[in-house]
Amino acid sequence: MKQVVFVSGKGGTGKTSVSAALASMLDVPAVLADLDVDAANLSLLFDTQPGREIVFMGQPRAQVQVEACSGCGKCLAACAFQAIRIENGVAKVNPLTCEGCHACTLLCPEGAISFVPHPSGVIHVQSASHQTLVHAALDVAEDNSGKLVSEVRKVARKEAENQGANLIFMDGPPGIGCPVHAALNNVTLAVIVAEPSASGISDFERILQLCGHFGIQTAVVINKSTLAPWLTSLVLNRCVEKNISVLGVIPFLPDVPKALSQGKSMLSVDGLRSTMTEIHHRLMDLVHNDR
Ligand code: SF4
Ligand code: SF4
Repeated sequence: MKQVVFVSGKGGTGKTSVSAALASMLDVPAVLADLDVDAANLSLLFDTQPGREIVFMGQPRAQVQVEACSGCGKCLAACAFQAIRIENGVAKVNPLTCEGCHACTLLCPEGAISFVPHPSGVIHVQSASHQTLVHAALDVAEDNSGKLVSEVRKVARKEAENQGANLIFMDGPPGIGCPVHAALNNVTLAVIVAEPSASGISDFERILQLCGHFGIQTAVVINKSTLAPWLTSLVLNRCVEKNISVLGVIPFLPDVPKALSQGKSMLSVDGLRSTMTEIHHRLMDLVHNDR
């Protein structure tokens, strides 16, 4: 199974719009996945149909068995998250602040604390313009986004296997933290969408370093290249230095943000289709000839 993930090291580089445009050009069976579980937006650029939902169970939360609790308060001292209070002579856990760390159970002399499953988000499986799209939403104030990214990938893989598709095409999360690590695990290719700006260069270097650290095959697309041609040259030079394939360079066109704000693909903008077609061909060559 080939797995391609688009990453950027930062938000705002156009990673989602570029990956959505390239996904819509795929001429092989594939499953799409949006791994930005904190703010999934790939579905906005596709004509999606209602599909099925899978509840994501996060870290189990502590629960006190009232009949077993003596109200001694030892669990309060153990809880670094102030998630427990004594109410009417027994301990009570606030599930919104409990982190499921199990410290309270170690100090409870009555064995009164157990753990219950806790729903933390939803995974959606939808049909999106003749492809299947898997995406998710983490509930408000929930963590475990890295775990949810892994779950979305598992569901996408299952869908691909069921459909006989040999490609999973993923829009990754921003940044370089835990969700990105989960997104990069065992991929065929990571495509970095870089932007020529001061912060863009800095974040490009960070994601490049991360991919290098894990030995992941990497390619680069430079988006909005005409905004700062000297910084675009800097990225291109770094790619030569590091022997990284440049799939293409996309100029900044004011019609792109306008099209995106109307839910349209960047392919609808005059002058971009040929550039995107070339990028698509180079990408598919790399995917099919990976080591
Ligand atoms: S599991 Fe951890 S966070 Fe939750 S109540 Fe117990 S000590 Fe506090
Ligand atoms: S430590 Fe156990 S017995 Fe004591 S208050 Fe907490 S839950 Fe109740």
